[in-house]
Amino acid sequence: MSIERVGIVGAGQMGNGIAHVFALAGYQVLLNDISQDSLDAAMARIAKNMGRQITKGAISSEDQENALARIETTLTLTDLGQTDLVIEAATEKEEVKKQIFDTLLPHLKPETILTSNTSSISITRLASGTDRPEKFMGFHFMNPVPVMQLVELIRGIATDDETYKACLEVVNRLNKTAASAEDFPAFIVNRILMPMINEAVYTLYEGVGSVQCIDQSMKLGANHPMGPLELADFIGLDTCLSIMNVLHEGLADTKYRPCPLLTKYVEAGWLGRKTQRGFYDYRGETPVPTR
Ligand code: NAD
Repeated sequence: MSIERVGIVGAGQMGNGIAHVFALAGYQVLLNDISQDSLDAAMARIAKNMGRQITKGAISSEDQENALARIETTLTLTDLGQTDLVIEAATEKEEVKKQIFDTLLPHLKPETILTSNTSSISITRLASGTDRPEKFMGFHFMNPVPVMQLVELIRGIATDDETYKACLEVVNRLNKTAASAEDFPAFIVNRILMPMINEAVYTLYEGVGSVQCIDQSMKLGANHPMGPLELADFIGLDTCLSIMNVLHEGLADTKYRPCPLLTKYVEAGWLGRKTQRGFYDYRGETPVPTR
């Protein structure tokens, strides 16, 4: 089937980035949120981020103008009924996502593909609550969406090949690269990345190395562009802890137990860059390690 009209539910950090890349790739985008402020902020953010791409010479101002004209916003979820592909990128709460699909289902065309950008909720479980589990997939973008090249395409147990192929074509048209993942906790990227970050926190907790030595070791010794603790601060320590909990509970293996020091930082409200303090303190001119 041909996908031309795309509905995006949730205009937050991920939703605005998803709308940005679809509009630039020539899709008609209908962006929905429950908050007009979020929709307005998303449109302003998209214009600003496209402006940055113009400065870098990646797109022209005509591209920006055309792309912005392809994005419509709405507070009415059921307006998305006539789209060919829906990407749900609302708040990471299962009851919120279920409610969105329940409201949308009676208004959808029979051939519309439903997807979710969830980082941690089972695609199979979300799909089973809909009338089309074979047309349901995980469409997992990385943050920031306009910059990151990868999209994980996650098949639920019932997802059919036609749906997978249609989503793969979309990823190709976005000029991104798809990794196919089965529906198990944290998929591929977070399944590998989060235990590494958690192990870095254990390395700190056990006094094997300081924040600075751990990050420097992985940058200079393993050629990682960012140290694991610096990266954890960028992602948000609450997000890292919640993904470790998903792995621990979902795979029932003690190797995924979250480090108590990670829990302590989250309890302190030291969540990384977004609260100006995590493994580094960002309140001054340059980041200062907190341990
Ligand atoms: P966010 O908090 O920035 O945005 C969520 C948006 O959803 C908000 O604007 C909110 O108003 C809106 N919303 C809430 N309930 C809604 C409803 N019923 N209908 C329509 N809109 C609703 O969150 P985010 O970081 O953009 O995350 C969105 C999704 O993307 C989550 O499932 C998350 O797991 C996933 N994800 C996040 C990241 C990341 O790094 N932030 C990366 C990959 C995937």
